[in-house]
Amino acid sequence: MTRLAAILPLLAAIRGQDVHVAPTVVPQGGVMRIEGKAASARMDGRSIRIFPQAAGEPLGLMPVGAIANPGPYQLEVLDNAGKTLRTIPITVRDARFPKQNIALSPQIEQLRPAPGDDEAAAAFRRIVTDPRHWQEPFERPVPGCMSSPYGVARLHNGKLTGAYHGGLDQHAPAGQPIRAIAAGTVRLVRPFQLMGNTVGVDHGQGVESMYLHLSKFAVADGASVNKGDVVGYVGATGRATGPHLHWSIYVNGIAVNPSGWVTVKPCAAAPPRAKKRSAKK
Ligand SMILES: [Zn+2]
Repeated sequence: MTRLAAILPLLAAIRGQDVHVAPTVVPQGGVMRIEGKAASARMDGRSIRIFPQAAGEPLGLMPVGAIANPGPYQLEVLDNAGKTLRTIPITVRDARFPKQNIALSPQIEQLRPAPGDDEAAAAFRRIVTDPRHWQEPFERPVPGCMSSPYGVARLHNGKLTGAYHGGLDQHAPAGQPIRAIAAGTVRLVRPFQLMGNTVGVDHGQGVESMYLHLSKFAVADGASVNKGDVVGYVGATGRATGPHLHWSIYVNGIAVNPSGWVTVKPCAAAPPRAKKRSAKK
């Protein structure tokens, strides 16, 4: 073996090591960050783009859905010719999401999507644009506590629907302003039958947010928003049992767990002040 032949595989291995993937054990609803000089990544039949960044290494986000099967996967990192640079073993961990029954009135249970609703939502989720407008940390859209977490398997009036909670619910009074979690471009403003009045914002590089059940819109399709700008007002339009905010984060088309991106305290947690008072007595 020549010296060069011995060195070449080593060089290839080092080049592959330039790509960093984290985490490699990821819960359902989580997101893997792929950093390094590569063009795309592929896992479980899904391909995502890796984008150059203003500062630092190129970055791509691989989402894992709430109902992805737990177990081992292979994540392939590809160059711009479509050649596999590296294959990384990934474990999807069962997030053990709870089940929740929702009592719905007959009129609400019978609601079905209007013609064009599903297509409009799907078209929004497919949007992937180049410039990155988002920066971490994201801002909570409303200040209220979390009344229902992401990933909960939904039963309607005791019947399993096959659906899961693709976002996070926050307590919010009707009319409260809803703020964009990050900067971006409004790409969806539509009164849906089930989701009610809905605003969707494209934050760039595959990241999007959606705000549901609004009483009123505050933005028009195509508008540019900054983090914290008001996009609408809390309501109970569509399939909602009362005023609250349901919002979602989509990463490359998949609804992921917003709790990985923002901190919202669950409503069940007693406020610390009340605890102190009762302890004194
Ligand atoms: Zn919800």
